[in-house]
Amino acid sequence: MNQIKLFSPATIANLCCGFDVMGLCLDNIGDEVEIHKSETPGVRIVSIAGADLPLEAEKNVAGVAALALLREWPTDFGFEISITKKIKAGSGIGSSAASAAAAVFGINELLGRPYEGLDLIRFAMQGEKLASGSAHADNVAPALLGAFTLIRSYDPLDVIRIDSPEDLYAVVIHPDIELRTADARSVLKQNVSLPNAIEQWGNLGGLVAGLYTKDYGLIGRSLQDKVIEPLRGILIPGFDKLKTVAQQAGALGSGISGSGPSVFALCKGAASAQQTADMMSAVYGQISLKHDVWISSINPKGIKILETN
Ligand code: ADP
Repeated sequence: MNQIKLFSPATIANLCCGFDVMGLCLDNIGDEVEIHKSETPGVRIVSIAGADLPLEAEKNVAGVAALALLREWPTDFGFEISITKKIKAGSGIGSSAASAAAAVFGINELLGRPYEGLDLIRFAMQGEKLASGSAHADNVAPALLGAFTLIRSYDPLDVIRIDSPEDLYAVVIHPDIELRTADARSVLKQNVSLPNAIEQWGNLGGLVAGLYTKDYGLIGRSLQDKVIEPLRGILIPGFDKLKTVAQQAGALGSGISGSGPSVFALCKGAASAQQTADMMSAVYGQISLKHDVWISSINPKGIKILETN
């Protein structure tokens, strides 16, 4: 195999009660990434369409992730990467993760698959370190493994993939405003009160149990966030209104996607997701705020191979 073309999905991290540990994989939103083997050793980003991002491998998350893999698996040939961005950087649905995950997944395929999921997560995390300053896995893990993922531990890295109930859909609304990850991080507090911590881990256990038992009611009851949302929600226009209408539309629950400004809702069934998307979109329509809305089923596989040659 000399070249590979991939669809690399957007992801929702945090999921209310699972700050920095939970994520899910979307199905129909994502980047397209093509990787070709080349005679010249090293990694080159040869084109980026749809976004103004650096071409230097060391400044692009795809390049950094690819170089992390090749440091452990040196080759006497190289790789040329072309990226078509369909997810805006900084929208809170794992734009940087999609590029980083695709680079390591594609190179691993072109090398005959020497590495497995956990290693690929480890390499892709180096790309995330470039994007946000911390080597976090809550977007790259669902992009690479699909479905839901739980990062139980970073040291050692321990990631659990959890199947999604079949009828679960995600709605994502992205207001066209800039919310820098650094700003979203700066409002956080370093300490959590014991009562809030107790509620949060109760809900996280409930979410995981709800996913395993396909108990939609339990999933919905567990989508609560006593720790982060009260601090970050104020940075997102109309956040409380979006949550109220999502609930009125019958969504199971809703919250901030990643560090925002996107807001997500989980719904049982496509009709409920459509109703939720329409009502959330109307909130921004009323205040004439430009936005995008997506409805997606949960992607069970993660990155998809579109073509090989
Ligand atoms: P998101 O949560 O949407 O990934 P982040 O703020 O975490 O947003 O990451 C976006 C940052 O990563 C931006 O500063 C962007 O310039 C940088 N970046 C570097 N390479 C890429 C890439 N290939 N795709 C997306 N972002 C990239």
